[in-house]
Amino acid sequence: MITKPTELDVEAVREQFPIFRRTIRGKQLIYLDSAATSQKPQSVIDAEREFYERYNANVHRGAYRIAEEATAAYEAAREKIARFLNAPSKECIVFTRGTTEAINLVAYSWGWANLKEGDEILLTEMEHHSNIVPWQLIAQRTGAKIKVVPITDDGLLDMDAFERLLTEQVKIVAVTHVSNVLGTINPVREICQKAHEVGAVVLVDGAQAAPHLPVDVQAIGCDFYALSGHKMCGPTGSGALYGRKELLEAMPPFMGGGEMIRTVTFERTTFNEVPYKFEAGTPPIAQAIALGVAVDFLTSIGMEQIRAHEVELTSYALERLQEVSGITIYGSAPPEQRGGVIAFNLNDIHPHDLATFLDAHGICIRAGHHCAQPLMRRLNVAATARASFYLYNTPDEIDALVEALKEAAKFFGR
Ligand code: PLP
Repeated sequence: MITKPTELDVEAVREQFPIFRRTIRGKQLIYLDSAATSQKPQSVIDAEREFYERYNANVHRGAYRIAEEATAAYEAAREKIARFLNAPSKECIVFTRGTTEAINLVAYSWGWANLKEGDEILLTEMEHHSNIVPWQLIAQRTGAKIKVVPITDDGLLDMDAFERLLTEQVKIVAVTHVSNVLGTINPVREICQKAHEVGAVVLVDGAQAAPHLPVDVQAIGCDFYALSGHKMCGPTGSGALYGRKELLEAMPPFMGGGEMIRTVTFERTTFNEVPYKFEAGTPPIAQAIALGVAVDFLTSIGMEQIRAHEVELTSYALERLQEVSGITIYGSAPPEQRGGVIAFNLNDIHPHDLATFLDAHGICIRAGHHCAQPLMRRLNVAATARASFYLYNTPDEIDALVEALKEAAKFFGR
């Protein structure tokens, strides 16, 4: 029997986010851009402030009380992220500044060491630039080639094409868990299984998944998983890379500097153990600690509850948006297979004009190419508007979006 997660008390959730007390031009702030960055609860804001007020010190080097406190809190945050992702141990978690840095780490470290001419890197048509450009840079240096899995007209990955493209030449598959434009949730478990059959490793870009769904890296079976703290109620400048420990151990360092070494002479350097080998220099300490608090916050609510809330909101939004004549929604994955992201255009109104119009109603949406220009080309558009939802959004806010879009259509005379 499937037990339904208990319903989220959205009002109680919202009370924990001070920003929602703000008004914009006399209107209540309606934030529908969490795919870009999420808002932060009071506990996360307090955690960062408390670090600076009470135990600001560098980690892993001080022999005094507050340095020990800082190190303990920093390592506890690593442990929390490991548990959140069901990673086998905290040594599999490298702190990064976000998904972009995590993917660059894998591309430069794993990619440079393992790719050569004749090898292939398999990406998909729905990747964010963060999961395209690092691979292009590495392909140029190593002679490896990039191949791309197309999407179907429904905005799903074309799995037949994936199987055709997945030859023994493919050494790494880099795929987004959830598309930041179409909202599509990709079958990452199946992708990992198939990729492993040909001996390829898999990097999953979890920027749009880790904040919204329960993620279990062992069940997925991925080799690397990247996430951004700022999209999951944590601070900017925080993020993480999960990597299988054997892989991380075999990989060369990404950046050189303090903290990532064991011994240094002018002739030779030996490196620290994982994950420290990948954390050169002073890390964003307050941010990592506060990311741990964000993980506590999400866990205390329950990722199943958050997911269920977003499925409901997205279904409601998809239904209500149909009332807006002239709207085109990109991607038609069913709610169970999509995250809380809806990209759309309204007649030929430029998405930036639409976003500016909505801003006058206190509604924040994103407009542009969403760092996914190849996908825009596939969809045959230069840009789209995008509304994205999180645990703090309500059906009333979707109603406000729909009414404002109807007004926009009248205002622009379309
Ligand atoms: N991947 C996806 C799917 C994203 O949506 C984003 C950000 O929007 C990124 C990667 C990059 O994340 P960050 O800018 O936090 O490094």
